[in-house]
Amino acid sequence: MLQKVLIVNRGDIALRIIRACRELGISTVVAHSTVDAESMAVRLADESVCIGPPRPAESYLNMPSVMMAARLTDADAVHPGVGFLSENAEFAEMVTAHDLVFVGPSAQHIRQMGDKALAKSTAKALGIPVVPGSDGVVDTAEEAQDVADGIGYPVLIKAVAGGGGRGMRVVESHDDLPQAFAACRHEARTAFGSDAVYIEKYLDNPRHVEIQLFGDGKGGAVHYFERDCSVQRRHQKLIEEATAPGIPDAQRLAICEVARKAVAELQYAGPGTIEFLYLDGAFYFIEMNTRLQVEHPISEMLCGVDLVHEQLRVASGYGMSRTQADIVPQGHAIECRINAETSEGFLPSPGLITAVHAPGGPGVRFDGHIFSGYKVSPYYDSLLAKLIVHAPTRALAITRMQRALEEFHLEGVASLAPFHQRVMANKDFQDGGVSINWLQKQLDAGTL
Ligand code: ADP
Repeated sequence: MLQKVLIVNRGDIALRIIRACRELGISTVVAHSTVDAESMAVRLADESVCIGPPRPAESYLNMPSVMMAARLTDADAVHPGVGFLSENAEFAEMVTAHDLVFVGPSAQHIRQMGDKALAKSTAKALGIPVVPGSDGVVDTAEEAQDVADGIGYPVLIKAVAGGGGRGMRVVESHDDLPQAFAACRHEARTAFGSDAVYIEKYLDNPRHVEIQLFGDGKGGAVHYFERDCSVQRRHQKLIEEATAPGIPDAQRLAICEVARKAVAELQYAGPGTIEFLYLDGAFYFIEMNTRLQVEHPISEMLCGVDLVHEQLRVASGYGMSRTQADIVPQGHAIECRINAETSEGFLPSPGLITAVHAPGGPGVRFDGHIFSGYKVSPYYDSLLAKLIVHAPTRALAITRMQRALEEFHLEGVASLAPFHQRVMANKDFQDGGVSINWLQKQLDAGTL
């Protein structure tokens, strides 16, 4: 087993990794920015080391500083968590070049899937259904128009290096395309350092359904079933659930198996997620995330597994602890992302938390890093906690989430808890199977 892991991350995910390491007898070092010096992760880790000022570019993304921290603390592995350096192939290479274990997939897989056009062609070659569109990168507006005329409008122009819901533009007609094409390339160059874009059909009101996968790096792979992450605002997920409601079992299981086989064939190592849009009974690949996802706990609750344990096992050179036959989904799980934002208007709410009470009781999991006296910093994403529930049925999971949200108490900053209560009480959500545009439509109409 690994001896000492350097965690290059913060917030709830740093805590999540510390907890798994502790249970496996692995020592932890948290690399943190100056503003996070008092964080819960720093308090709970065995050691901590400051890697720079608050701005991510100077700390959590500062590779030389991170490598120095690993050397100074004698770590034998680096866990990048979620976000920051977790999907940076150059970083993964740098870690292995220093004879340390990168807790994640190979740099080659990160690179292959991080380029969205290459990921799509890889997926297609592995037999995964994809959204109709261009064969890879499109270089000119004329070429883009030809592709778009062929598949029909509306289309989406997507940046090859895009992520986090950014770098996408919907185009309604042939005549609108050249201007949107130029604007999207310009934005992509500024935001991601690459102006490569591709075209795909814009699907009207699909659902977002993704498969949790796990590979041993040697051609063995399992899936942990699917998650529905359709409750989104500006392409950011707010509520996730597992399994996806209302999709026939045969169809769900078939797509899980297609995705599992693809990951096995790639000889992929560690957790990964293949994301699909689901429309009119069909699945369309959109991307693969080569890391743990924020919403991984719902799959853990559903299947009774610890995915970070699995990840550390595989990184240590042991195989996976389960075969597909061992993975039996039970009941239903829901996650609400409790961000420091106002429930009306979604405005950021940084500041000092003066009191907090976490919900508990049967089937409730609170993955949060907040405490009374914690200062919500404007430098990082606003996730305060993930509230996860598990229950025998979807209806009971919703009731349990309502009960847990009632118990949650926070003073000093605003949170999305009241917003989540409104969604849980909403008839469309309760019926299940809302599309990715549902939330925005409700907000526009003032019905939520
Ligand atoms: P990112 O890497 O930024 O998360 P994705 O490709 O996963 O980008 O897309 C993010 C979100 O954008 C999806 O969850 C979905 O809401 C929307 N989206 C992406 N592709 C399409 C499409 N072809 N048609 C309609 N919506 C899409």
